[in-house]
This record gives sequence, structure tokens and C-alpha cells, in this order.
Amino acid sequence: MKVTIDGNEIEVNLGETILEAAKRAGVGIPTLCYSEAFGGQGVCRMCMVEVKDGDRKRLVASCTYPITGEIEVQTNTPELREIRSNIITLLYRRAPNSEFMKKLHQEYECTAVEPVDAEEKCIMCRLCIKACEKVGAYAISTIMRGTEKRVATPFDESSPNCIGCSACADICPTGAISVKKENGRQEIWHKSFEMPRCEMCGNYFSTLPVKEHVKEQLDFAVSGENLCPSCRRKKLARDVAEVSKNR
Ligand code: SF4
Repeated sequence: MKVTIDGNEIEVNLGETILEAAKRAGVGIPTLCYSEAFGGQGVCRMCMVEVKDGDRKRLVASCTYPITGEIEVQTNTPELREIRSNIITLLYRRAPNSEFMKKLHQEYECTAVEPVDAEEKCIMCRLCIKACEKVGAYAISTIMRGTEKRVATPFDESSPNCIGCSACADICPTGAISVKKENGRQEIWHKSFEMPRCEMCGNYFSTLPVKEHVKEQLDFAVSGENLCPSCRRKKLARDVAEVSKNR
């Protein structure tokens, strides 16, 4: 099936989203709450595009809009740029302490605003919650309502479900989740974890509960489970070279 994106006809697969099709065609649509790992959430609305379906024109979130027919898409009209600029202005007002948001606010030449909380970094994109769900921990969620809404552990206390994997912090686009690594311990979400040492280089990596979690999830022994990711890659490369040499 063919659709038109910004005047160029491209081949698409039935059911894929406009965002996916545009990415494949090399058309950049800005996103904040989208991740290749989880797909679209339609939360931030940065990826809004204009869709013309027959005589009907409307604005949709490209990350969640599946292509089911021959449509014409515009990704960068003055109206869309204004929508994105307004979204960034609002998010910057909410999270002015994030370098990422400061940069976007400048890039889009948004209007100056009075911040709600000068220390805030979170834009409520929910990527951290998604990451935690994918890990299978379900340790964080949104609490409160309206402007008070935020991501937290239950009762703002250390969650027994959290394994300290830091997937939530790694995926956060605005650096809103604090992770402290010191003297072989990692602190995140009001909880402190012991970190194992790599058998090869001696560096600390991951956390003990993550090791246990991986063992529980997988039904087979993990090769190099006592190695940090970098040494595991080196060992794998050496093992492959050894096998090739002995063939
Ligand atoms: S560190 Fe804790 S809250 Fe964050 S993704 Fe891992 S388990 Fe979830």
C-alpha cells in the first residue's frame, strides 16, 4: 500500500503507524514519550501530524495511528510547529530543571514562562513506568492528580518490587530519576542495593537482585553472569575467535 508523507509517496505495511512509516522513509517526527522498544503511547502529543483521508483532514498522534488506507500526511506545517512549540512550553514550565527540556525550549524558540517548580525534571512521559513493567517489576506508577501528578513508588517508600535495575533511569529522556552509585552500592527510589563485582575487571556492575531476577526469568544458566557487560562482550568475542581457530 502507498501513502504520501510530505508530498513523497512511500510504500507502507498495513497496520504500521505513521511514525514507523515516516522513520523508515527518513522523515523525522519529534517524539518525547515514544521508544523503539515499547512503541507509541500517545501521551506527549509531540508527534502530531495532519492526516488527509479523502475529504477529511484531522490531527492525530502519529505514534499510535495505524495506517489502514491511502492517506496523505503532513508532518511539518506551521500549525503543527505551533502545537509542538506550545507542548514544549508547557513541559518546560513543568520541568525547567531538565537540560533536555531547556535545549528543546531554546531550539523551538518558545516563549518564556514562569516555572511551577524550579527543581522539577519530570515531564510525565511514562517511559520509566513502561520500562519497569517490561522488566516485570511494576515498582513505580503515577500518583496524585492534576498538577500534583507524579511518578513514585507506593507511599513514596522503598518498593519490595524494585530490583534496582535502573532501566527506568536509563530510558528517562530528562534525567529525572536519580541513581547514586558509591562504594559498591547503588541507590534508587529510596532503596540501596549491593552491587556484584565483575570477575574479570573487578568493577561493580548491576545489582544482586537483578542477577537473581534474570536467573528466575530464564530457564537456563546465563553464560558469564559474573561478568560486567563490557567483559562479557570481550569474553564472547574471545570464545568465538577460539571456536573459529579450532575449526
Ligand atoms: S530500578 Fe526499580 S523502579 Fe526502576 S525499572 Fe528497575 S525495578 Fe523498576
